[in-house]
Amino acid sequence: MASIYIHIPFCRSICSYCDFTKVLYNKELVGPYLNELANEIDDAYEGELVETLYIGGGTPSCLSLEERMRLAEIIKTFNLSKTVEFTYECNVEDITDDLLMDLKKMGVNRLSIGIESFDYCKLDFMNRVANYDDVEAKIKAVREFGFSNINVDLMYGIPYEKLKDLKKDLNLMLKLKPEHISTYSLIIEDHTICKIREDENIREEEEARMYNYIVSKLEKSGYKHYEVSNFALNNYESVHNLGYWNNCEYYGFGLGASGYIKGFRYENTRSFDEYLLGHYRNEEHLVSPQEMMDNEVMLGLRKTEGINLQDFFDKYEVNIQDVYPVKPLIRNGELIYKDGYIFINPKYIYVMNEILLKLI
Ligand code: SF4
Repeated sequence: MASIYIHIPFCRSICSYCDFTKVLYNKELVGPYLNELANEIDDAYEGELVETLYIGGGTPSCLSLEERMRLAEIIKTFNLSKTVEFTYECNVEDITDDLLMDLKKMGVNRLSIGIESFDYCKLDFMNRVANYDDVEAKIKAVREFGFSNINVDLMYGIPYEKLKDLKKDLNLMLKLKPEHISTYSLIIEDHTICKIREDENIREEEEARMYNYIVSKLEKSGYKHYEVSNFALNNYESVHNLGYWNNCEYYGFGLGASGYIKGFRYENTRSFDEYLLGHYRNEEHLVSPQEMMDNEVMLGLRKTEGINLQDFFDKYEVNIQDVYPVKPLIRNGELIYKDGYIFINPKYIYVMNEILLKLI
């Protein structure tokens, strides 16, 4: 069984906050890139049954018809399970009947749509566009094409954003009735337009208020808060992303992709030139038993259900409390033990990184 992530790094414009591996769309580059992607896959993939396939970016939806056909050819290499979860990331403005038809033919059954906001000021800050009526019409078309599993992304914590702005955004997102909502608070990363502009993050207390509002609003609206930033209607949790949080292995193909296969974690080069020369890997190392356990804890505690102690013991032949200082954190209320699981107290999930630092 395998999970596969494929990175398509092309974007029509660059968002101010983005530190992903991306380049501006350039027709001349796409063909050679897809050829190299096919070579990388040929070198590594061993025909395993594929349970989840995620095509992300970048903006995979910006590929032209011919480029999508080439990508579809590459995907035919994979032995897809009948129950595969096959996600394709789209930007709203790229959604057309032709694109939806091609994605259907390719076997895509989950769309992840980067909307982020409907607020003019927020969009302007992010260097993005979205208009509610357009988005509503596009989502209607997506439904008519038979896609019944849609994720939308929401960004919050933009400088000068107020809780009332977020409330408006969230209400509009909910009107679209997506099966899944991923939320992101703005983090100003190095090498981004935001960093160059010297934008500043909003105050931590304000961000915490926004986060708590999102959680309570989405839970009241029937969404399960299953991971720190992710919410889903019943049975619509992202199987692919749960694989990451369950510390499972996966292939990552493409520029800047990372993967975890046969005990090795690797990161691909972020240099386009290197990638086109066939020098895919930037870094690769065998994961030690300690690192594997650390990852299990760090990733597992992102899930609101937390870590199953028996599963941890079965996997590592050691009790979690014998390796990590779990008990003091349960005593001070930062972690909760219940029904064989430990998880971060929902009150403190917002500061989970500090809790993880105390653990590891
Ligand atoms: S956020 Fe997405 S669409 Fe925007 S530049 Fe980054 S990869 Fe491209």
